[in-house]
This record gives sequence, structure tokens and C-alpha cells, in this order.
Amino acid sequence: MHPAALHFSRLWLLHKDTLLSLVSLLVAQCATAQQARMNEAVAKEAVHRVVRHSGLLPNFTVLEDDQVPTAVAYIKGRERVIAYNPTFISGILDSSGTDWAAVSILAHEIAHHLLGHTLAPEALHPGDELACDRYSGFILQRMGATMEESIAAIAVAGNVHGTRDHPPKHARSAAISHGWLEAERIAAKAFDPPFIVERSFVFVVRFAGDENTYYVNAENQLVWFNDHAEPIGFGTCTKLESKEFAYELTWDGYSFMVDRNNIIWRRTTHGMLMQVGQIEAFIKQ
Ligand SMILES: [Zn+2]
Repeated sequence: MHPAALHFSRLWLLHKDTLLSLVSLLVAQCATAQQARMNEAVAKEAVHRVVRHSGLLPNFTVLEDDQVPTAVAYIKGRERVIAYNPTFISGILDSSGTDWAAVSILAHEIAHHLLGHTLAPEALHPGDELACDRYSGFILQRMGATMEESIAAIAVAGNVHGTRDHPPKHARSAAISHGWLEAERIAAKAFDPPFIVERSFVFVVRFAGDENTYYVNAENQLVWFNDHAEPIGFGTCTKLESKEFAYELTWDGYSFMVDRNNIIWRRTTHGMLMQVGQIEAFIKQ
């Protein structure tokens, strides 16, 4: 057996608290006079563990990078990279008071790779972000984290990385909780809830370049369904009185106008209107 593999499998057998105190210890050991920094070896170990729990072989490149504001997943050549700012991660560890916060951030980034988001990196994919959050909740439950520990990073930071438009905190916490509960249900071999065909929506919402489908429900919420058909409300749809625009879609500081032909527009920083998607009436099947 390769010595590194032996090292990992040995760590694997340790109790999770021992592993976590190892994380703290290593973080503390590389603390400078001003700010603590996350050790790269610890980050690699965390990524390795997340990937193992997904039933996959780890083939990610984990890098610390002070130029990255938070954490990011990207493809460079044929390499799948996860880069993180060690000072940011350490700050999250400090303010959340749990090492699971770092694991959840890395799990979210791993999910961007696993779900194929890094193949076509574009802005405006709130569903992609929620899917990654769900994955992080799912994996953290399987790794032994409590629900509270799994949402700790979102609770203190809201944004775990700065390259994509992120849905608001509450939607992200909900996505993590759904993943966590799903893992718990699977572990408990619980029966599936009844299958319900009836859904009452008003609109179907689609953004250009985003393969996710969103809906507006009767309560004027903008809703995304994850792969397990769990609804997550992440924004609102407001009816407007204006002649030109019929609705406004909003989430977490973003605002989109829907004109009377159902076209969704976004105002650029220069005040220009850009067509970014369309809505259509929901038809019951
Ligand atoms: Zn993300």
C-alpha cells in the first residue's frame, strides 16, 4: 500500500472528534501573529473525506490561494481545482466555532465539480448554488455532523464564495437542511413520502443559460425544486402596476423586470436593459 494511502486510511479509523481536534490543532499550529490560516494538508484531508463519502476516488487539486476572496471551484486544463483563501476559512472556523464549517464550504465546492457546473461557468444559476448546498448537507450528515454544524458556515458567512450569484441565506440553509434530512432518512431506511402529482403554480420561470426551471407559486414565491423534488423558496414575484412591466422578480438584492410579453430583463450597472430569460403561465397537466 502506498504510504499516503495508509496514512489516510488510518486517519479514517479515528473517531470524528479526534479528527476535528486534529483540524483545530493544525489550524492553530499555522496561526501567524495576526491571523490563523487553514493548513493546506487539512483542507486536502477534508476534501478527501468528502469525496470518499460520495463513493468516489479523489481526483481534485486543492490549492490555497490568497487571491481568491473566499473559495472557488474551477477547471484548469484537465485538472479540477478547489481553491480557497486560508484566512477566510480560518475566519469562518473562528466565528462559527466548528470545524465542520470548513468541511461544508469545501463540500459545496466539490459539488460544483461533481454536478458539472464548472464545465460551463456562468452567472445567474441560483439553482446550482442550492444544489451544491443540498449536497454539502447530505455529505456532512453522512460524515457525522449535526444539522446545526452543517449550516454553521452559511449562518456566519451567507456567501461561501464570491464568483456566482448566490441565493439568500435562508434558502441556502433550507437546501442544506433538506440534504441533511434526506441522508438521515436514507440511513434510517425510512419509507418514501407519498407521491403527489398535484402542484399549484402560476408561472414557469427560465433564465437563459440556466438549465434549472423555477416556478412562481400561488403565494408569489420564486421556487426551485431540487433533484428530489423538494421545493425551496428563494425569492419573490411581485405584480407591478407599470405599463411596461407586469412583474418584478427579486432575490437577495437582485431585481429582474418581466415585461408584458413575459420577457425577463435585468438592468446592467450602466442602466441598460438586458434580456435574461422568460416566464410562461403554468399549465396543469
Ligand atoms: Zn457555489
